[in-house]
Amino acid sequence: MKSLFTKAVHTGDRKKAGPHIPTTTPIYLASSYSYDSIETIDKIFGHEAEGPSYARYENPTNKALEEVVTALENGAGTLACASGMVALQTAIFVALLDRPKSIVAASDMYGATLSLLTKIMDPLGIAVRLTNICDLGAVEAALAETKAGCLVMETVSNPILRVGELDKIAAIAKKTNSALIVDNTFSTPLLVRPIELGASFSVHSATKYLAGHGDVLGGLVVADEAHIEPLRAYSRIAGPVMGPFEAYLTMRGIKTFPLRMERQCQNACRLANWLATHPRVDKVFFTGDPKHPDAATIARLFPKNMTGAIVSFEIKDGEKQDVFRFMDSLKMLVRATSLGDVHSMVLYPLIASHRDLPPKQRARMGIKDNLVRISVGIEAAEDIIADIDQALKT
Ligand code: PLP
Repeated sequence: MKSLFTKAVHTGDRKKAGPHIPTTTPIYLASSYSYDSIETIDKIFGHEAEGPSYARYENPTNKALEEVVTALENGAGTLACASGMVALQTAIFVALLDRPKSIVAASDMYGATLSLLTKIMDPLGIAVRLTNICDLGAVEAALAETKAGCLVMETVSNPILRVGELDKIAAIAKKTNSALIVDNTFSTPLLVRPIELGASFSVHSATKYLAGHGDVLGGLVVADEAHIEPLRAYSRIAGPVMGPFEAYLTMRGIKTFPLRMERQCQNACRLANWLATHPRVDKVFFTGDPKHPDAATIARLFPKNMTGAIVSFEIKDGEKQDVFRFMDSLKMLVRATSLGDVHSMVLYPLIASHRDLPPKQRARMGIKDNLVRISVGIEAAEDIIADIDQALKT
């Protein structure tokens, strides 16, 4: 099985559970597992025999999901977690277990990720230095000065959509033995596979494209060969694990995610091109824009014509009440925080994803009060455009 489309449908599923093979992985709700003899249980606890013993250690539904994600990302193994944020936190703690307790991170990231670093890691005594991830010199200098245990970045930053040179950043991080943790939520393994490019961890909010239907809160940590055993050992103790129902839904979502993502990328391209000529739109942010500041990196690291399905734009001369009026006028696009679902969604970063950041920090990140972010869904592109058009006219 070479193609990601085929792997997404087949890997992990149809495990033989006795004489029969369920055609899709069942939801295992049991919190513990018994065996015919205490001798077998002893072997399982001692890792001499395979099998689940306790749901914090292993769950067959989660294991099947972890198998398919590992195959899609080309990692050494995966841990399914209860949310994207706990997945990030887990990757950071595992990375820092045997490294200096300091972090270098991209200054332009999802608001809660910045809050995790500045409001939780920093008060715990883990020094955090923010840097411009698109400036290789600045990244190298920050790592050389701090000798940070890990470097945290997003493949595509939220919501301004900047793209760092992941492969070159991975090579820089290796020089200081810093683990590179990449939040690959926006890109998914269909577009970019960070571990293939040298990252130690690729992290997802599974809540988004992978589950894809707005009914799961979940996260995934994919690790490279060097970090998979420490990740599993950490999880057995700290227990950040996903519930089996969410694992089932995520696995079900993954079967169609390459098809959805392909279509969402096409729709995003059409929407971005249309917005670029709209008289009520000031500036469009889209990774497929040939004038994107990181266009050369995107051309090098992403497949042709598939660069992502998020489009952000500024409403011309728009103030907060204009953005509110625009959002209230939408008839089909869903006003909600999240992204990557089958339905198109609109978010106002100022009051949602980046609300907790000080205004000055938002301004430095280029997030203006007239910026809205669209997560483009799988509907017909004409319908998405028509809804935004009528709302912009109000
Ligand atoms: N990373 C990115 C890029 C996100 O957009 C989000 C959520 O919006 C997260 C991480 C956090 O994921 P979760 O909400 O599943 O904890």
